[in-house]
Amino acid sequence: MIPFNVPPYAGPEMECLEKAAKINRKICGDGEFTKKVSAWLEERTQASRVFLTTSCTSALEMAAHLSGIGEGEEVIMPSYTFVSTADCFVLRHAVPVFVDIRPDTMNIDERKIEDAITDKTRVIAVVHYAGVACEMDTILDIARRHHLMVIEDNAQGILSTYKGHPLGTIGDFGCLSFHETKNYSMGEGGALQMRDPDRIEDAEILREKGTNRSKFFRGQIDKYTWMNYGSSYLPSELNAAYLYAQLTVADEIFKWRMDRWNEYREQLAPLAEDGRIELPVIPEDCTHNAHMFYIKCRDLEERQALIGFLKEKDILAVFHYIPLHISPAGRRFGRFHGEDEYTTKESERLLRLPMYYGLTADQVSYICACVKEFYDKQGRQAAANR
Ligand SMILES: *Cc1c(COP(=O)(O)O)cnc(C)c1O
Repeated sequence: MIPFNVPPYAGPEMECLEKAAKINRKICGDGEFTKKVSAWLEERTQASRVFLTTSCTSALEMAAHLSGIGEGEEVIMPSYTFVSTADCFVLRHAVPVFVDIRPDTMNIDERKIEDAITDKTRVIAVVHYAGVACEMDTILDIARRHHLMVIEDNAQGILSTYKGHPLGTIGDFGCLSFHETKNYSMGEGGALQMRDPDRIEDAEILREKGTNRSKFFRGQIDKYTWMNYGSSYLPSELNAAYLYAQLTVADEIFKWRMDRWNEYREQLAPLAEDGRIELPVIPEDCTHNAHMFYIKCRDLEERQALIGFLKEKDILAVFHYIPLHISPAGRRFGRFHGEDEYTTKESERLLRLPMYYGLTADQVSYICACVKEFYDKQGRQAAANR
């Protein structure tokens, strides 16, 4: 069986774990490995500060809290996303206002945002689907004119760029994920990317249970105390050590995924040229990180048939988000603004093919051959029916 995802294991993980546990004798948060990971991410994503967290969900909760959004206020976001993009705002009793996506990138349609703004809107939350950037210049311009904050759900976008700028530090806050399904992993984990230095102290206090303990550890004050509301968002050194090991070979993992992505694209191009499937679109101003390779089938029925066909060939291909606005919680907590022209339709057509560090070129060729076989068969059936 070719699985859909295998969590990355690069080699140096055990050595780093052993260093944390046996040599450093520090397994709670903010030790050597947390510092190294944060420094690496700050450099590579041009963030003024990066805080490692227990998940992207908790980074989103921090960002929502720091945005100051309150009860009854609104946040504009796509409906085609993971639940955490919305949950972190619902926790603050804010209202998710969903707008449609663009069919080419599956990202929020920047042309439909402004119409959804009311006097209660405080935040625009964007999702860089498959590590491909949203149209950020337009979104930042709207945010500036309406005095809104921009939060980037950057769970999938590590090392991707928009007009040369790394994702996650274009808006006010970026939220990365290091869940085992992401390009680099620590099992469960994430990070908050900060653009503006003047919010760093608030974030530090929020992450450290509401105390100024970080300042204390830096020797800037002689005792620490409760300063504000806070929670515990820092992950263990063991998780950080696992992630750090992967970041030491980040470029190798990146290249591995990109090679497979390009092979998929090349081998499936003939099917796309024949109009049988659609392939992902990378806008000219964007570079991506090969987080995901998806195709689009004609409709839901064809996609389900292809999933079944590939399963018989021992290949696990999977669909993705059920739009939030049609879920029970989405209906209760939020609303869709405007027409759902693409969100539901495009989500029903989308199929993700296996993609992970360790997937081989031969496996990709086999998967592409099976997809072709499916469409060849379909073509013959259609001809026989005519
Ligand atoms: C994976 C993912 C998340 C959640 O990440 P966790 O680290 O599991 O909390 C949130 N948003 C998007 C778009 C994701 O892909």
